[in-house]
Amino acid sequence: MCGKHYRKFLPYGYVISRENALCPNCLSLERHRLLWLFLQERTPLFSDSLSFLHIAPEICFIDKFKKLKNLNYKTADLESPWADIHLNVENMPLESESFDVIMANHILEHVEHLDKALSEIFRVLKKGGWAVLLSPINPEREKTYEDSSITDPIERERHFGQKDHLREFGRDYAEVLASAGFSVEQIDYASTLSEERVKRMAIASDDISNITNHVFIVRKP
Ligand SMILES: [Zn+2]
Repeated sequence: MCGKHYRKFLPYGYVISRENALCPNCLSLERHRLLWLFLQERTPLFSDSLSFLHIAPEICFIDKFKKLKNLNYKTADLESPWADIHLNVENMPLESESFDVIMANHILEHVEHLDKALSEIFRVLKKGGWAVLLSPINPEREKTYEDSSITDPIERERHFGQKDHLREFGRDYAEVLASAGFSVEQIDYASTLSEERVKRMAIASDDISNITNHVFIVRKP
């Protein structure tokens, strides 16, 4: 993403460390580099005049998006000091239908009320607007698993995979997103890239066509 070249990236991972994952310069991970290519090749984000809300902004993207003159780009976060707007995604102090594009990755597994977060993203998007909502998915799970009675961090890690996760998404992730009224596109984009490119950009840590590498785009009708 940053244009630097290395023999390989740094290992990274919370529970299991993955080889060749983290760029030491821009801190991009596999999923960021995949999304970066996707956004350039499959969306009008780099060309159209768009208002863009980036929630819990990944540091590797911020400067890149800020430089795009076609965007009216705002970052938002619960507490991050570098965010333009401080907000809780479950109750956003933003006007309805005020953004063309929203990106909120690896957030939905942390929020207290998933339905509230999704309905807020739906509300703030303009009609015809779209959002990138990537979350960790356990491909072994058919249905998303959530139990609000589990509050102990150790138990949350045992049940949902991480101490601050409140649920674990399954292969029904697209249906979960659709339940908020969105039309959902689940795109196996990584499989369309050449093997050489996947390897060079270190885009996927496991089987390339796995749901964990899919891009989920939701659209407000
Ligand atoms: Zn980099």
